[in-house]
Amino acid sequence: MERYDIAIIGTGPAGISAAITAKIRGKNILLLGSRDLSSKITSAERIENYPGLPHISGNELAQKLSEHLSQLGIEITERRISAVYAMGSYFGLQSGEDIFEAKSVIVASGVVREKLIEGEEKFLGRGVSYCATCDAMLYKGKHVTVIGSSSDAAEEAEFLSTVVGSVDYIPMNDILPAERENIRIIKEKPLAVEGTNKVSAIRTDGGEYETNCVFVLRDAIMPDKFIPGVDTDGAHIKVDISMRTNITGLFACGDIAGTPYQYIKAAGQGNTAALSAVKYLNTLK
Ligand SMILES: Cc1cc2nc3c(=O)[nH]c(=O)nc-3n(C[C@H](O)[C@H](O)[C@H](O)COP(=O)(O)OP(=O)(O)OC[C@H]3O[C@@H](n4cnc5c(N)ncnc54)[C@H](O)[C@@H]3O)c2cc1C
Repeated sequence: MERYDIAIIGTGPAGISAAITAKIRGKNILLLGSRDLSSKITSAERIENYPGLPHISGNELAQKLSEHLSQLGIEITERRISAVYAMGSYFGLQSGEDIFEAKSVIVASGVVREKLIEGEEKFLGRGVSYCATCDAMLYKGKHVTVIGSSSDAAEEAEFLSTVVGSVDYIPMNDILPAERENIRIIKEKPLAVEGTNKVSAIRTDGGEYETNCVFVLRDAIMPDKFIPGVDTDGAHIKVDISMRTNITGLFACGDIAGTPYQYIKAAGQGNTAALSAVKYLNTLK
């Protein structure tokens, strides 16, 4: 299996900036995220504070960033990472049933702004899942619920419906799964995950629905949930001025590394994280 020098998680300004710098420094990189980059770029109507690009729209900025990646021959691997494991001399990054390997990792996955649902944390691993691909088979033939926030949640629900018995889909955005006999759309606000030892129901503002598992699919996962052992401060990964975390070889940048939430700060930290990763890789020689 190929072992990359640096795996970069996230295709917002932080991850893209890290990828550009790491590539220029001659590193073998794996950039994981979306070819649409980040909804936080494309949804901005007008950006007034990005140096050199006054009055640019989010879509125009996304276009420029994509062009910059193409010019350097940097490809985006369209995968979501559900877990990062520090293995000693390298890292394992899990995406569905696949594992990627890298000597260092830069986490640039943005910040979770949504409040956790009551019971979500308590039942994580006992009927609450953040990854449809990872856990679908555990619920083969059973009834599950999807709370769909991420841009690919509807697609993930369609995939789930091919494995599990039936799916209740609670949309948190405008994208709905395709019509299928075993997918029921519930347009209500999820309030709490219920159960005793494991999940038995989801409570919404419209009622209570029995379920075996609640898949909570967001664009970003709370960092300590997908990187075991990383030091966090709420939704943020703790970093030093060089974007180092408490785990050797693991760096974080952009919104996930704290406020202010700004493009140029994210891009600047991405650059610093890449240079720190390069420095770290040099110590391995
Ligand atoms: C509507 C709007 C307007 C804004 N306007 C401005 C502005 O005018 N000026 C300004 O400076 N800032 C603005 N911001 C803030 C700015 O968007 C953020 O600070 C910036 O996008 C943060 O960049 P980032 O790279 O850290 O994270 P993000 O842009 O959030 O990118 C993170 C990326 O990582 C991906 N990702 C997450 N988890 C995973 C995973 N497990 N595996 C793979 N990929 C993953 C996400 O899908 C996303 O593509 C605005 C934000 C919004 C929402």
